[in-house]
Amino acid sequence: MSVSDNLKRLNERIAHAALEAGRDVGDIALLAVSKYFEPTVIEQAYNMGQRLFGESRAQEFRDKHPHLPSDIKWHFIGTLQSNKIKYVAPWVDLIHAVDSVKLAKAISEYNKKNSIHSQILIEINSSAEDSKHGFSQQQACEAVLEIESLEHLSVRGLMTMAARSENEKQIRESFARVRNIAEDLKGHHGLKRCDILSMGMSNDFEYAIKEGSTIIRVGTGIFGSRRR
Ligand SMILES: *Cc1c(COP(=O)(O)O)cnc(C)c1O
Repeated sequence: MSVSDNLKRLNERIAHAALEAGRDVGDIALLAVSKYFEPTVIEQAYNMGQRLFGESRAQEFRDKHPHLPSDIKWHFIGTLQSNKIKYVAPWVDLIHAVDSVKLAKAISEYNKKNSIHSQILIEINSSAEDSKHGFSQQQACEAVLEIESLEHLSVRGLMTMAARSENEKQIRESFARVRNIAEDLKGHHGLKRCDILSMGMSNDFEYAIKEGSTIIRVGTGIFGSRRR
């Protein structure tokens, strides 16, 4: 299957999942995850009208994005180290995976020095798996409130990776936990703009749409499997 066939099919599946969930498909953004793929491959999706792309490795992103059209909107979805903020923060519309107060403080300081502002999401470890980054369900509210109080950044929502499971119920529960934290932040803590939920990848985006995801991050489902 070509990138264009994959994108067409994927957009049909997104529309179908939205319909089943009783949601407006316009409220669900497709982030095309292009890590490991060359600009020529990324351009195939761009030529189909895709404008929102996600990268997860800071140096790779630094080297790649200057070769691609300037009307692409980039999101950074990977684990970010403080010394690589400079490769990312000036060039992206959204940083998805802020997983510590320390990283948030470093972004805030970098932005202050460079007179820029970042929109960020806070990563939640919704399955409590040791291998995953992010705040636990218990830590989440306090951490978000502390990060939200920093200057030069805005917390726009939450991001998670689902439980490593084949079980629909378990996967959906991990997404639902994150949605509940976001609702709590909006309802009880006054974070009115905390309305982005970055949840769902190639294998579980339909469940994520049913649990309220507003950005799905799909790589393999568009570009095929990645060489490692
Ligand atoms: C690579 C990656 C994705 C895309 O995964 P696929 O299974 O290829 O769709 C989504 N989110 C994050 C954080 C990733 O690193």
